[in-house]
Amino acid sequence: MNLTLDQIQDFKGKYPKQIWSLFFSEMWERFCFYGMRGMLVFFMISQLNFGEKEANLQYGATQAFVYAFTFIGGLFADKILGFRKSLFWGGLLMITGSLILATDPHQFFFLGIAFTVVGTGFFKPNISSMVGQLYKPNDSRADAGFSLFYAGINLGALLGGYVCIAIGKGQLFSQVIPENSRWNIAFGLAAVVMVISLINFVITQKSLGTIGLQPGHPFLEDNKKRIPKRKEYAVYGLSLVFVPIIQIMVAKTEFTDYFMYTIGPLTLIYLFYEMTKVTSAERKKLWAALVFILFSILFWGIYEQSGGSLSIFAAKNLNNDLLGLDPNGVNNSGGAFFIIFLAPLIGLLWIWLGKRKAEPNTIIKFGLGFLFLGLGYYVLFATKFFANAAGITSLNFFTIALLVITLGELCLSPIGLSIMTKLSTKNLQGMMMGMWFLASAYGQYVAGIIGANMASAKEGATNLQSLITYAEGYKQLGMYAMVAGIILIVLSPLIKKLMQEVK
Ligand code: GLN
Repeated sequence: MNLTLDQIQDFKGKYPKQIWSLFFSEMWERFCFYGMRGMLVFFMISQLNFGEKEANLQYGATQAFVYAFTFIGGLFADKILGFRKSLFWGGLLMITGSLILATDPHQFFFLGIAFTVVGTGFFKPNISSMVGQLYKPNDSRADAGFSLFYAGINLGALLGGYVCIAIGKGQLFSQVIPENSRWNIAFGLAAVVMVISLINFVITQKSLGTIGLQPGHPFLEDNKKRIPKRKEYAVYGLSLVFVPIIQIMVAKTEFTDYFMYTIGPLTLIYLFYEMTKVTSAERKKLWAALVFILFSILFWGIYEQSGGSLSIFAAKNLNNDLLGLDPNGVNNSGGAFFIIFLAPLIGLLWIWLGKRKAEPNTIIKFGLGFLFLGLGYYVLFATKFFANAAGITSLNFFTIALLVITLGELCLSPIGLSIMTKLSTKNLQGMMMGMWFLASAYGQYVAGIIGANMASAKEGATNLQSLITYAEGYKQLGMYAMVAGIILIVLSPLIKKLMQEVK
């Protein structure tokens, strides 16, 4: 049965039932993405003989490009493809990338990565935008829906991040997988799960009614202007042209700097141009969205230490007093583990508070996100008080920090997805979602710079001195996060004005 948009959005209960199909497609996509991401640095060092620094830079470049491409994927979805076709096309490119890597990861490494970068750009922002469309603009249950969706993201991240590299390294299924094809199978698994993601989407998309259809589709209210097929094919063609370009740019990391210097300002100029075409009320909302996007750069810059300096800290300065677990394993997957359990609970908390008219609005949630992040970094700082003379401190205590940081993430990241869908005008949804993720690209970039500065500050130091240097660095980051949280809360009346009726 084809549901109308109203029927979908007038759902009873806590979650629209369509959220589950998007949950599973996104879960498998994140399995593929984090599975591949988790293998990159290790593979480059152990198989391609890259130096540590080079591998890390290359990893950073990949991350920056992946999230930067979401802007382009979102933009083309709004203007030409619609969310569904974009998602499908992105999924196909991701499958192609993983298959290329599965065939010969040594020879075609950067080509496979480039396909995945472009594919993720088309997939990632657009599936999130579709979640937003399951809700009426002022439905207070939307944040809970995004929190649930976020649990799916992290379930995929946790499984993919664990399984793929374990197969590659020969720690999993080594009896059945011959040694010389471990990496092929590991990358191949990313392709398989992406196929599952797309099959799931194709089978369930009927339940989405008109959500995500191509602009001008006959089933839509606004169906005067159909998009000519040649434009659609031009987008497919253009995205293929991007593949070799990305391949070259990722392989030579100095391009990443130029790319990052230009893409942000260009997207801003484009946004300002689009702002001239909307009503003044809509423009104010877009300004509010931009404030959230800009703050999120700082959030991710601090948060993303987990892939950089915190992984070195975990390797060198932590014991394994938490059930004998490996500190790097805890650092890599502890956050996702907490989120899977906490995200649905926090979502239900928002609904519970909403019913009592006590739910904090988005600005306060963002502020809380920063305060928790800051608090978490202060806990990281405090690990130094538990250190022994060899500079080794408690993993248990570190894990508490991770938990607090995760609470911060849950107040900001799913809420950010949700507010992007609420503040964007209808024809800019994909692009604004893309901008939200572009902020993550900058966050990763900033995180790399912060991490590198901390690393050079501790050069030549003993293990204990370097722990102290890191701890001091985390204290400073904690303070920045706290200040940002307070600024947001102080600015809240102003931002509220820009947001108008949106909560
Ligand atoms: N971990 C989340 C995801 O993969 C958020 C990523 C981000 O915005 N940086 O979707």
